[in-house]
Amino acid sequence: MEEKMLTEQIRRAGIVGCGGAGFPTHKKICGRAEDFIVNGAECEPLLRTDRYIMAHCADRLIAAVEAIGDCLEAARLTIALKAEYVPQVQALEEAIARKNSRVRLHLLAGFYPAGDEHVLVHEVTGRTVPPGGLPLAVGAVVDNVATVLAVYDAMEGKPLTHKYLTVTGAVEHPVVMRVPVGTAFTECIRQAGGDPQRPAFVVAGGPMMGKSVGKQGLEKAVVTKTTSGILVLPADGPHAIREELSVEKILNRARSSCIQCSYCTQLCPRFLLGHPLQPHRIMRRMAMASLEELPDDKDILAAQLCCECGVCELYACPMGLSPRRINVLVKGELARRGIRGTFDLAEEEHPDRELRKVPVHRAAARAGVGAFMSLEPEGLVTYTPKQVEIPLKMHIGAPAQPVVAPGDRVEEGTLIARCPENALGAHIHASLSGIVTAVGERIVIESR
Ligand code: SF4
Ligand code: SF4
Repeated sequence: MEEKMLTEQIRRAGIVGCGGAGFPTHKKICGRAEDFIVNGAECEPLLRTDRYIMAHCADRLIAAVEAIGDCLEAARLTIALKAEYVPQVQALEEAIARKNSRVRLHLLAGFYPAGDEHVLVHEVTGRTVPPGGLPLAVGAVVDNVATVLAVYDAMEGKPLTHKYLTVTGAVEHPVVMRVPVGTAFTECIRQAGGDPQRPAFVVAGGPMMGKSVGKQGLEKAVVTKTTSGILVLPADGPHAIREELSVEKILNRARSSCIQCSYCTQLCPRFLLGHPLQPHRIMRRMAMASLEELPDDKDILAAQLCCECGVCELYACPMGLSPRRINVLVKGELARRGIRGTFDLAEEEHPDRELRKVPVHRAAARAGVGAFMSLEPEGLVTYTPKQVEIPLKMHIGAPAQPVVAPGDRVEEGTLIARCPENALGAHIHASLSGIVTAVGERIVIESR
């Protein structure tokens, strides 16, 4: 009964995975699992969002971890974070002691990508998630820190309406902010002393896995339930130059310049776990033939195992090639054709895995953002805009269906769009009190 109550509270609050693709959380914790693991690795080099939450909301986190653990009937509750996050470790240890909690901390080394779900499960449990599988296949459920904090709010009856995020990079004073969902990126950048009018390359997320919002996209970009950071980079920096390369150019460069050194594979974290993903082979196949000729090739199918961490292209490749972007291209094409590979169970981890872990500061330096590594946001900026534009699809599954119309008055927390009956998805709530001024793919609310 208690467990059902928590999943219902989470469903009503519209919580989705805050740090990833936005999988609805009530669907994730509705079963049983041996291990519940909170991902506090925050492996993207420049982000400080999860670190802020762990340092300042430790008691709430521990309470929510206990509740989710009970719901899953989990034998072990673990928060995994890096040993170097000293204030966060201390805050969590003190909260655990205060509550006499059974939550334990697992301290990770400072490598990238420690927060990749498969890597994290392996680090904490010693078990390997099968290629293409979910952590539940080895009895684990993983949620990130911000999601767990949202669960605490749901337990208090509050829906997910606000997001913590880091705004950093080429701005005057990097900040950790708490803003309503639907706040414009440009306003967040201004709060960090950045000038959205100045040419820049803006990324939603961190420098390794974040997505470019594009030159035209910045004006329309808004904070969603999955936004954890906004990174402002120079318009002529390596990220911008790489992003400008067309698919055709990337493929041509792969054909002409890949020397088959296999460094991309040797350092690939999924390969090192024992998964049959070898990006150098994908590069070779794609250099020799077009994708149309290769849909059944087992090396090509293995692109579906790529987590897009970027180690291969931002760190490993000596020729400046883009195995990750080729994998993204291949994955997209296979998905379009409805082709899904089946993969052998993971073998043992690679014997040199420990030696080949990529130190975070070196990953940042090679990715061209080393100069921003020392930036430390101070305190928390809370900001309320005059208007929010809330997308109806911020999660995996069906878009939410509006239940408000232009002219309606809403209060912060009012349900404004509902997950369709029996569909995978999430409810959406007003993040600002005011008047609904438009309802389309986004619901616009003006504060009045
Ligand atoms: S690291 Fe670069 S050059 Fe070497 S095999 Fe991979 S893509 Fe080719
Ligand atoms: S992005 Fe590259 S290194 Fe990362 S999982 Fe994919 S192939 Fe491996």
